[in-house]
Amino acid sequence: MTNPPAVRDVMREFGDDYGSRVFTGNNIRRRISPNSYEKLEQTIQYGTKLDDDIADEIAAAMKEWAIENGCTHYCHWFQPLTGATAEKHDSFLDFDGKGGVLAEFTGSSLIRGEPDASSFPSGGIRDTFEARGYTAWDPTSPAFITLNGGESTLCIPTCFVSWTGESLDQKTPLLRSVEALNTHAMRLLKVFGSGDGVQRVTSTLGVEQEYFLVDEDLWMMRPDLMLCGRTIIGADSPKGHQLDDHYFGSIPSRVQAFMGDVEERLYKLGIPAKTRHNEVAPAQFEIAPLFESTNVACDHQMLTMSVLRKVAREHGLVCLLHEKPFAGVNGSGKHNNWSLSTDAGRNLLSPKRTVHENLEFLTIVTAVVRALDLHADILRASIANAANDLRLGANEAPPAILSIFVGHMLQNMIDELKSGAPIDRAEGSTLSLGPNAMPTIELDAGDRNRTSPFAFTGNKFEFRAVGSQASVAWPNTVLNTMIAESLDHIATRFEEVIQDGMDETARDEAVRGILADIMQQHDRVVFNGDNYSDEWKAEAERRGMPNLVSTADALPAFSTDKAKALFDAYGVMSVNELEARVEVLHENYASVLAIEARTMLNMVDTQVIPAAARYQSELADTVAGTQAAGVDSSAIKHRLATLVEHTNELQAATDDIRAAMTHCDGLGDDQEARTRAVHDSLLPAMERTRQACDAVEGLVSSDLWPLPGYTDLLFSSLA
Ligand code: ADP
Ligand code: MG
Repeated sequence: MTNPPAVRDVMREFGDDYGSRVFTGNNIRRRISPNSYEKLEQTIQYGTKLDDDIADEIAAAMKEWAIENGCTHYCHWFQPLTGATAEKHDSFLDFDGKGGVLAEFTGSSLIRGEPDASSFPSGGIRDTFEARGYTAWDPTSPAFITLNGGESTLCIPTCFVSWTGESLDQKTPLLRSVEALNTHAMRLLKVFGSGDGVQRVTSTLGVEQEYFLVDEDLWMMRPDLMLCGRTIIGADSPKGHQLDDHYFGSIPSRVQAFMGDVEERLYKLGIPAKTRHNEVAPAQFEIAPLFESTNVACDHQMLTMSVLRKVAREHGLVCLLHEKPFAGVNGSGKHNNWSLSTDAGRNLLSPKRTVHENLEFLTIVTAVVRALDLHADILRASIANAANDLRLGANEAPPAILSIFVGHMLQNMIDELKSGAPIDRAEGSTLSLGPNAMPTIELDAGDRNRTSPFAFTGNKFEFRAVGSQASVAWPNTVLNTMIAESLDHIATRFEEVIQDGMDETARDEAVRGILADIMQQHDRVVFNGDNYSDEWKAEAERRGMPNLVSTADALPAFSTDKAKALFDAYGVMSVNELEARVEVLHENYASVLAIEARTMLNMVDTQVIPAAARYQSELADTVAGTQAAGVDSSAIKHRLATLVEHTNELQAATDDIRAAMTHCDGLGDDQEARTRAVHDSLLPAMERTRQACDAVEGLVSSDLWPLPGYTDLLFSSLA
């Protein structure tokens, strides 16, 4: 186990070590001609197409750098629809044609790979006998070197497509959605005359990652944690987070050592880890990076999850990224902080001081409000899966109704926009803390609202409903696409009325009129109150907003004509690609729950019922012996009766699971119907089983119980 000082070393040598395992900046510049470097930079910064003729030069430089850093192999690193990343390693070894071997890496190996990818989910796009899939280099996300088991491997971020060119991964549609945003945001900047010198607008992303840590030895005693990433059974611990004593508390030293190692690993990969703290639940923590452009941030997010998992094991811990590892205890999410930025780093969601400048800001806000109102259903569907269903809407995570919180300042601006009053930026005030020695602090212009699924937080929107183990690429693809459509809509309306050379005041008037009109139509999606309250559910229904509580309710949103038309129109996904993706999502839902159900049966059959039976016989012996001694045995007799009752109930409930599984297996190819059946029949049977099982756990003598319980898992192992 390494110690925190390692982190200090990294910070001390920040300049040298940060990004040392990433092929960017000086690592490239030193190795290729200035001309080629310039071209590559153009591609990285502005997404321009890379000249084929410099690929060989870049590949040679990459190989040289990788070998210097101890690599013998390279891989095309991609993100298939499994939710994980994939890599197939090849060594640099090649024949030299003269009977010897050499280290070789050509431009064509850099640009294109051809993994036999028949076992990745394709949603019917490709049959297994048509195994051909291609990986294509994404030069906009830097190559990096991973260290695993002492072996260094050069990883090249790539898109993964079938031989028909249809996407089979997370990255391809994301890149297309970023492109759509760029196109239409640039049109808007033109209207405002603020596009001079701007070559590109991209979405920016900073993802806060929540996770749990448990002791590896305890984890190995829980088949459910090992197979499903969450506890499928388990009685409450008497203590949860009632006292809020863990949140932002002092980080346990064992965990701090782990965090230090994680950060060191991330820094070397050029991942700008910034924030770390204890989260609400016991044994729950968070890590957040500085934000980056969305594509790179998504790749970095996948790497962050992988580093968290790997480093935890090196510390005798296991990092649980599941959305709800422990029932009754706060679950984990990812806060997806989203904004739009020019290539020069100007944030388009920063409110300004003058009315005129604020119109551009308000245009983007209006686009977001309109997009959410029109497409809340698909955004909801983009975060739907079996695991997130356990968390959303429970009284800790945002509900499934996707409203927007805009806060005091922005609400005022929206009201002024709609009423035609002058629009100001509500200035923040200051707060004096009393004692003279204390500095006066500036207050933000609005408070926070932690209950909102989609909140404006000063200069960005924070989408908080994303699940903790999910790839953020998909929700961001959906978000970008729906906002691109609104930007397009607004730009078109602007372009209809705004002529070149138009007087600025007249132009601002026209812009305001259009924005006010759009806000009038769509701001029902804005809600600044308590999203956890029942009143809001009723109010949202009155406003006609969708409340898609489960995956079974949410996924059909992707199968509507509206959704198909949207993704197709912006070149993000063809109808075929979308249908395939939805099939994969349904498939995943059914598979996850089938694994959970089988794990549950296995644990109940081989661990819980045997323990209950042992205790039962112990109690029966005690009752018999007590009675024989002529002593009142009613207390133990009562306990025995209760145990038998719970055990019988448990057995009956597992029969429900078996029946539900048979029922679901018997359904044909109708994915929606199967998801619905799993939700309606398997889930309640599992819930019934869990209740009975937890009741048994509450009775059986702890020395007979074969599993570490919630108290052990959450409290015993991290100090
Ligand atoms: P919190 O909301 O928990 O207080 P922070 O304000 O520290 O968190 O920010 C959370 C995340 O938002 C960080 O990852 C940060 O980099 C990211 N973020 C900040 N500004 C932007 C932006 N303009 N675009 C995208 N993400 C951003
Ligand atoms: Mg936040």
